[in-house]
Amino acid sequence: MSEPLVIVGNGMAAARLVDELAKVALGRYAIAVVGDEPRLAYNRVLLSSVLAGETASHDIELRPASWWRDRGVTLKYGCFATEIDVGRRELKIANEESMVFSKLVLATGSSPLRLNVPGADLAGVHTFRDTRDVDLLLTLAAGKKRVVVVGGGLLGLEAAYGLARAGAAVTLLHLMDRLMERQLDSQAAALLKSLVERKGITVLLNANTARIHGEVSVEGIELADGRLIDADAVIFAAGIRPNVALAKGVGIPVNRGIVVDDVLQTGVGDIFALGECAEHRGICYGLVEPAYEQARALACHLAGRAAAYRGSVVATNLKVSGVSVFSAGDFIGADGSESIVLSDVRHGTYKKLVVSEGKLTGAVLVGDTGDALWYLELIRNREPIAAIRRDMMFGRTLATVAKAA
Ligand SMILES: Cc1cc2nc3c(=O)[nH]c(=O)nc-3n(C[C@H](O)[C@H](O)[C@H](O)COP(=O)(O)OP(=O)(O)OC[C@H]3O[C@@H](n4cnc5c(N)ncnc54)[C@H](O)[C@@H]3O)c2cc1C
Repeated sequence: MSEPLVIVGNGMAAARLVDELAKVALGRYAIAVVGDEPRLAYNRVLLSSVLAGETASHDIELRPASWWRDRGVTLKYGCFATEIDVGRRELKIANEESMVFSKLVLATGSSPLRLNVPGADLAGVHTFRDTRDVDLLLTLAAGKKRVVVVGGGLLGLEAAYGLARAGAAVTLLHLMDRLMERQLDSQAAALLKSLVERKGITVLLNANTARIHGEVSVEGIELADGRLIDADAVIFAAGIRPNVALAKGVGIPVNRGIVVDDVLQTGVGDIFALGECAEHRGICYGLVEPAYEQARALACHLAGRAAAYRGSVVATNLKVSGVSVFSAGDFIGADGSESIVLSDVRHGTYKKLVVSEGKLTGAVLVGDTGDALWYLELIRNREPIAAIRRDMMFGRTLATVAKAA
């Protein structure tokens, strides 16, 4: 008899886990997936492209219904899991009977943060996380609304770009003195700002949102330094918070995320967590690649094979058409490291490679990101770069030819 394995959350991590389980433990588990979004799992990363009108909403489904059926997965979507009964090994679902499990996996992702400022609950304040949000934002843009996006990280930039492309007048506010400060050094960020402004987006830095004005709905936004910006809508893209309520409810240890070990096990036996809701070795990742690596390790563990997830080297790619940005590893350059920089601001290109102890440890690319994956491989594999150091700035092809010569 197959063991009942229940996954909470029908997002990207859950879909990948089912995929990996089908490869290594086919038939061992009767898998059920419970997700509160009212559709099949989709590629959330592509929501930015849907907003920008570059991808159709129905094209982002990760797998068709038949794929789930063929793997014998019971899919319950539009269902919110409310409670775990650890003793009875049951998951309670809103307005439904409970589901029994022998193993439970929490893949509940994150929720967008809403700034705690006066006016944050007015009509016209939105976030950017799921397909329902995208539909709302597209309606705003179609009405040529004035939209303020709060947050100049990856998500805020992609929201601003998509909204501007769809017809809205967009102002992007960022608290810090440079965009994407967690991925870019100041030169790369300055170049990015100018490229984004060329897309018709107004960018305000050092912009601390103090309050949102309006009687019933948004009329404007006020910054801490007194600046006022007229607006019909505000989009918060200022961070995410892991969804940990289910775990917390039964005393599973939680810091920022649900604490897991190297086999993705939580503090309670047979209950696992992965993806954005999980915290591994003190890190909650907000990107999909670590979730996929965790899915691989967890599937192996659940199949009874030796497996361990030891953390991920993350990379960021901005998805704004005509503005290519890539960042990975130590992009600032820790003490004792050296930086090789090529900067041609006029042509919209900036490249910085960080080298430490004869290895590539970080990279920032703006403009030409063609060799991003190669740099990422070099960083991940910690390969010695002495033979290609002189030429690697000019890309894989040149460096490889020079090495062979
Ligand atoms: C617009 C946008 C662009 C992005 N771009 C990138 C990118 O370029 N690169 C990158 O690496 N990452 C990107 N990300 C982040 C990436 O999408 C996430 O890291 C990834 O989706 C995490 O997968 P997950 O399964 O952990 O969470 P999710 O995909 O969020 O799935 C979690 C699911 O669980 C459901 N859920 C939560 N609680 C419950 C409950 N109690 N009961 C039932 N269901 C529940 C949620 O509704 C959700 O459907 C982007 C995110 C957004 C929003």
